[in-house]
Amino acid sequence: MSGSTIHAIRVHEQGGADKLRFEEIEVGAPGKGEARIRQTAVGLNFIDVYHRSGLYPPPQPLPFVPGSEGVGIVEAVGEGVSAVKVGDRVGYAGPTGAYAEARLVPADRLVPIPDAIDDATAASVLLKGLTARYLLRQTYVVGPQTVLLFHAAAGGVGSIACQWASALGATVIGTAGGPEKVERARKLGCAHVIDYRSEDFVARVGEITKGEKCDVVYDSVGKDTFPASLDCLKPRGLFVSFGNSSGAVEAFEINLLQRKGSLYATRPTLGNYVSKHAELVEAADDLFSMITSGAIRVDAPQTFPLADAGAAQTALEQRRTHGSVVLIP
Ligand code: NDP
Repeated sequence: MSGSTIHAIRVHEQGGADKLRFEEIEVGAPGKGEARIRQTAVGLNFIDVYHRSGLYPPPQPLPFVPGSEGVGIVEAVGEGVSAVKVGDRVGYAGPTGAYAEARLVPADRLVPIPDAIDDATAASVLLKGLTARYLLRQTYVVGPQTVLLFHAAAGGVGSIACQWASALGATVIGTAGGPEKVERARKLGCAHVIDYRSEDFVARVGEITKGEKCDVVYDSVGKDTFPASLDCLKPRGLFVSFGNSSGAVEAFEINLLQRKGSLYATRPTLGNYVSKHAELVEAADDLFSMITSGAIRVDAPQTFPLADAGAAQTALEQRRTHGSVVLIP
């Protein structure tokens, strides 16, 4: 199959949401090991904002197509590809270049989507759900004895993670901004929800746990919740910093971990947990079975046309979204 002209969003220079340009680009034929996907739904993630704003370096040379999550149909495969074939319904979480009607993806990054899960739902849960899974099952092995704090519990990752943690039997304390999101987090299985816009979350965690505090804190808010998050941990507890929604955590002295109670700290990223194809497929199967069994309920995502990616990113940055957002090409 030869290349063709499609619509995509591109970033020519990093900056505000106005830097996202909807334009025509060429997509080539798939090379060795690649598949070409005609996309039906594209997941919106906070990392897209970091790539656009400049908090993270450009993932590819400028101008680049942002986005790391999508679902669609395989329309061509390159040499040596046997894992997928033309017509397969697939998704991915990771390779940048998702904000487009069609794109090339390394075939070993694709996973099949079960029939029971529609395209928009799949594109709303792959990256966020795989993240929730490794955080709860690998970064720290959460179980019935675990008491954990999950910040931004009503967000995309938080909505899935809080349900999953509660299905694993943990006591889940969530934080959320404002009464509507607090209510949503409660419905998602948080035993306790703290409105961290109006309440002191450290004091509330102390009250809720009767001074015992948490085994693990999952913090994607970053700058605004650090170092207070450390004060929510038991001695030898684990601080998991996995995002920067309010800005990056500033450099700190490692002795701080000793003063706060011999704490552990990690800064993980999804790519290191699913770098092998077998790990990716196993994790995706686990995620999809949690959804199809009903253990994790996924609300229909909020949708924006692909051309309005700037408005979607602005809503995410301004904390106006709850759950997941999907762009429709
Ligand atoms: P969310 O839907 O969770 O949106 C971010 C939420 O963070 C907001 O809705 C808001 O919730 C909260 N927040 C708190 N302070 C701020 C602020 N100053 N500005 C903006 N938001 C703020 O996004 P995603 O589900 O896409 O991602 C969640 C986090 O997880 C991100 O930080 C992302 O980078 C990270 N992530 C990390 C991965 C990894 O492997 N390390 C992989 C995937 C995501 P509220 O209003 O309730 O405070």
